[in-house]
Amino acid sequence: MKIIVAGGDGFCGWPTALYLSQKGHDISIVDSMVRRHIDEELGSNSLTPIATLEERVAKWKELTGKEIRTYEGDLQDFDFLKMVLEKEQPEAFVHYAEQRSAPYSMIDREHAIYTQVNNVVGTLNVLYGIKDIVPNCHLIKLGTMGEYGTPNIPIEEGYLDIEHKGRKDRLPFPKQPGSYYHLSKVHDSHNIMFACRVWGIRATDLNQGVVYGLSTNETSLDPILANRLDYDSVFGTALNRFIIQAAIGHDLTVYGKGGQTRGFLNIEDTVRCIEIAAENPADVGEFRVFNQFTEEFSVTELAQMVKEAAAKVGLSVNIAHLENPRVEKEEHFYEATNTSLLDLGLKPHLLTEDVIGSILKTAVDHKDRVIKENVLPTVTWK
Ligand code: NAD
Repeated sequence: MKIIVAGGDGFCGWPTALYLSQKGHDISIVDSMVRRHIDEELGSNSLTPIATLEERVAKWKELTGKEIRTYEGDLQDFDFLKMVLEKEQPEAFVHYAEQRSAPYSMIDREHAIYTQVNNVVGTLNVLYGIKDIVPNCHLIKLGTMGEYGTPNIPIEEGYLDIEHKGRKDRLPFPKQPGSYYHLSKVHDSHNIMFACRVWGIRATDLNQGVVYGLSTNETSLDPILANRLDYDSVFGTALNRFIIQAAIGHDLTVYGKGGQTRGFLNIEDTVRCIEIAAENPADVGEFRVFNQFTEEFSVTELAQMVKEAAAKVGLSVNIAHLENPRVEKEEHFYEATNTSLLDLGLKPHLLTEDVIGSILKTAVDHKDRVIKENVLPTVTWK
């Protein structure tokens, strides 16, 4: 298949582009490089050294003979996007290209507005681009489990069958997101659903859990192909962040009571889920929603698992409960459905001590690159 991976220079996008290319798909990457600029803005870095996108795709071609075309530009620029779609004529458009940090979106008014404009306008342009240029192209959009929040009932995959005053309907599952970033994803979901209904676009919204790990078979082929690994308090996600804290002997920073429970998945499953979605497209006019995670953990459970895995390799770490910079429930009911991708053939890579151990090894190898001041949270919700 001809597939565009937008955001293909990022943490999820780069391994996805390589995996799909390895599987024989014809891949092109679109990315504005804004994430690399945000590193400069925050005085931060990837724990792993990352080559430029040009170096990455050149190395991939040298090792495998497979070409990945690249387009540097912003999805907010419709003329640029139109040019790419006209040239590539994609059958699937994988859309990772958004500002994805909740704390970044909560820094101040400017960062909230940047996040929502970047994400909502970029996605609207993709919808118009598909409608006008490649109407049969399947949009595979990365949403997040964070769109649902933490309701006191089980979370379904996108829709809820309800009975109200004697009448029944299947309605979008209520969304109670916890940051301006997560709200941008909810706005995207509504815009995509509308475009499916009105223009007959085919779309899959993948409500992804928190992704951990960094390597796949393809990124491990050469250091030039290495994936980025965020550890700072703004872009580092739970688990990856704890593992890096363990590597540098820092306390594991649990926010508040640590009962916050979320869905998680290994980066190796992220890339497979995209393949499954691409090979089983949504129908014309269908807005399909899959919950893309494999296991649920509380923040305290994760910290405990990292502490134990670190002890096995002789690293002694403490778990510290910091005042929670976010406004969120710290103890709550959490149960979410995730059967659609499993039914389509996903075989999960579960979180084991070995998995934590291998990420920890990479973290230890690069621990001299850690900028220690960036580990503690600085952004507050209030
Ligand atoms: P990332 O920041 O590493 O990658 C995003 C990429 O998109 C970057 O390379 C950035 O330069 C690019 N980009 C951003 N805005 C753009 C624009 N307007 N035009 C072109 N390129 C643009 O993020 P990630 O962790 O790879 O996440 C990818 C997607 O997956 C995001 O949409 C995110 O919401 C979703 N997601 C990620 C996680 C996670 O744990 N990482 C969890 C749930 C959902």
